[in-house]
Amino acid sequence: MDWNGVASTDVFKRDAHIHLQEYSHQQLDLAIKRAMARGIERFDCCGTMPSDWNRVSNLAMQYKDMVFPYFGIHPWYISEHDVDVENVFEFLVSMLGKIPYAGVGEIGLDYKAGNFDYQKFIFSQQLELAKEYGRPVAVHTVGMVNELYEHLVQYKGCFPELLIHSPSMSYEMAEKFLKLGAIFSFNIFVLNEEYVRMRELAARIPPESLRFETDSPRRIFSGYEVPELNGLIGPELLPEVHKEVLAIRRRYAARGVLS
Ligand SMILES: [Zn+2]
Repeated sequence: MDWNGVASTDVFKRDAHIHLQEYSHQQLDLAIKRAMARGIERFDCCGTMPSDWNRVSNLAMQYKDMVFPYFGIHPWYISEHDVDVENVFEFLVSMLGKIPYAGVGEIGLDYKAGNFDYQKFIFSQQLELAKEYGRPVAVHTVGMVNELYEHLVQYKGCFPELLIHSPSMSYEMAEKFLKLGAIFSFNIFVLNEEYVRMRELAARIPPESLRFETDSPRRIFSGYEVPELNGLIGPELLPEVHKEVLAIRRRYAARGVLS
């Protein structure tokens, strides 16, 4: 298959951002089996809050060499009242110590989550740990891309991988992140023609900086639910994301249009 310049086929075997810990035990087994049947071999499984880190860690042990764990506090789950900073960061360090290849994520900034100074503080602390331990970072951003850049510009070359998941920003802004070595990971939002900025990014990001994900099991818009997974989405959808991104890139390369 012509992947329009996307270099390594390994990229297509990797769901670069997923929350396997959010499936029940039964669903999980099925979700992984169905994805494997479609050629997916690697799952980058992102924790979102201290209470799910143990499950993420257990999954990494259970599915060794398939599930790559990340531990972090997602901006949605940051509240000054319930983050006991000292204990949480001690716990994070212990998780990173336990699994030497674990990354830091899902962390980031989100304008919908409010509490901005505290969000930035928690984000910075987690970036510092990732730098100290030399770990990959999985970033979430909704809006706040300038603030995100201000944080990340200090860390050029500090992480083995800096992945920005489900990116929505201008291409000009994305170029600044690319200069920091960031890679961009697209999910089924890209199938929705209303997400014009995301589709433009998917069309223009250099092939070596392009990754794919499903962000399963989060049902981000309807029409892609898997009945066998009780209506959640699953990593088996990854090839649909590949196909759409490829189609967008072909059209864009040939005619300079997205659809
Ligand atoms: Zn996520």
